Amino acid sequence: MLTVHPYAGTQVALATRHGKQQALAPALARIPGMSLVLADDVDTDQLGTFTGEIPRSGSASETAVRKARLAIEATGLGLAVSSEGSFGPHPVAPMLSAGQEILAFVDTVRDVCILERRTTKTNFSHTTTRRLDEAADAFLARVGFGDHAVIVRPHSTADAQAPGPLVKGIQNRADLDAAISQCAAHSTDGLARLETDMRAHLNPTRMREISALAHQLASRLATLCPDCGTPGYGLVDREPGLPCGACGDPTRLTRATIHGCARCPHRSRHLRDDNQRSADPTFCDYCNP
Ligand SMILES: [Zn+2]
Ligand SMILES: [Zn+2]
Repeated sequence: MLTVHPYAGTQVALATRHGKQQALAPALARIPGMSLVLADDVDTDQLGTFTGEIPRSGSASETAVRKARLAIEATGLGLAVSSEGSFGPHPVAPMLSAGQEILAFVDTVRDVCILERRTTKTNFSHTTTRRLDEAADAFLARVGFGDHAVIVRPHSTADAQAPGPLVKGIQNRADLDAAISQCAAHSTDGLARLETDMRAHLNPTRMREISALAHQLASRLATLCPDCGTPGYGLVDREPGLPCGACGDPTRLTRATIHGCARCPHRSRHLRDDNQRSADPTFCDYCNP
């Protein structure tokens, strides 16, 4: 029997000023005729910027849902998608950086809100320098400067109310050299602070990760609830207790995943899809206390 997906041929609002449609549109096109409509009037920066001129209030997932609702208000459509990223030190290895991308999908007709998230590769980093020297060049090589942009500001200012120049979206050495001189001159310690620009259109690593997450969201939307038929049936919880391969005791590793519906209470339990049925004894509290 041929069934038509409830979202076939629908329009989805997207509020972005950072070109995220290039990551989202191809993924959502997996559902026949599903297309994006840009909510150009929504200034997503009002919900906070990476560079801190406007602080974010609320968590990344709350911000993502708020952005999607603004896109719905601006376009009058019933569906919206939005993206939000957060970056910081790696929780296990603080010398490294970690990123998290979130996509929120809101359906006001079915009263459904789906959040997909993914821990990502990122070039998120910063350094300080007086000039374009060898150390600065090593930093630039590491963060992929050129196709990835950087931001420059003074490292230290006497007055927090007057932080001085903030130069964003720099992608060539001439502009970078000028920004470093300008910001170092404004800094009380003579140092300019170089940061990776995390806006998606200036950070191809981030754009690729959003694209991968968009495919994850699209396959979730393609899956209908076996009970009520609402799109978006998928992972809602994990069940720990994968047995140790040596002694059989339950470990903290995932044994099964719980899938659920975003609208009705229907749930189902699935064994790991990687076919791993036992844990390495290194993860066992008994074998490796
Ligand atoms: Zn064990
Ligand atoms: Zn359901």
